Amino acid sequence: MIELQLSEQMRQWRKQVSLKKVIGLVPTMGALHEGHLSLLKKAREECDVVVVSIFVNPTQFEDSNDWAIYPKTLSQDISLLKTAGVDVAFLPTVDQIYPEGDHFQLTEDSLSRLFCGAHRPGHFRGVLTVVMKLFHLIKPHQAYFGEKDFQQLQLIKGMVEAFFMDIKICPCPTVREADGLALSSRNSQLTLEQRSQAVELHKILQVSPSASSAKSVLSQKGFLVDYVEDYQGRRLGAIRLGKVRLIDNVIL
Ligand code: AMP
Repeated sequence: MIELQLSEQMRQWRKQVSLKKVIGLVPTMGALHEGHLSLLKKAREECDVVVVSIFVNPTQFEDSNDWAIYPKTLSQDISLLKTAGVDVAFLPTVDQIYPEGDHFQLTEDSLSRLFCGAHRPGHFRGVLTVVMKLFHLIKPHQAYFGEKDFQQLQLIKGMVEAFFMDIKICPCPTVREADGLALSSRNSQLTLEQRSQAVELHKILQVSPSASSAKSVLSQKGFLVDYVEDYQGRRLGAIRLGKVRLIDNVIL
């Protein structure tokens, strides 16, 4: 596996890839788990060359402390990528992705204001900006995103369409723990007690007759509920357990 840190190295690498090869990209923020690995597996099956980026993108965090404490397990991640048969790991620093500072940002003015966007101002601007930068640097033919972050997936699909980009966005189903909790890098920040409570999010989204009843049941159980809403055949929800924010969605 090739490891690249510099954007210029990535551009040079990209220039010499044969035109016949299908390139798949899996963007991540590291602290890899089975959810990420399912995206890698799909990319490995469908593409000739698989590139994974690990970059904890500061512009999508509203709180710089939250960015600083985001879990980092780089050496373990690298071993996992090698085992998964990844060809290129792109591991840039903040300066490599934002050489201009973060003066240019990509704004979406509709869906990004709802749901998670209503509670995390600027979050999706940061997400779309970094994904656009990665798309320009790596020029993948296909890019893989998890349905766990359903709103993010819809926004990225929308961005690719809006900017006439020839990139196929490949959605991948949510991977869960045996009890139903969606895998997330943030789960490692939960205390044992919070971990046992966290499973309620998925359960209640699934069994409640309506979004509003799911919201009230979660509140009655003592969770701070950011939102529960139905959108495009899914029930989306976000709760906070102490400092940890968890999101999930289920198919209706
Ligand atoms: P992250 O590192 O959290 O930014 O996630 C990188 C990619 O992995 C995103 O496309 C996520 O939607 C996806 N992902 C994260 N958790 C899961 C999961 N439990 N199942 C499937 N995909 C996931």
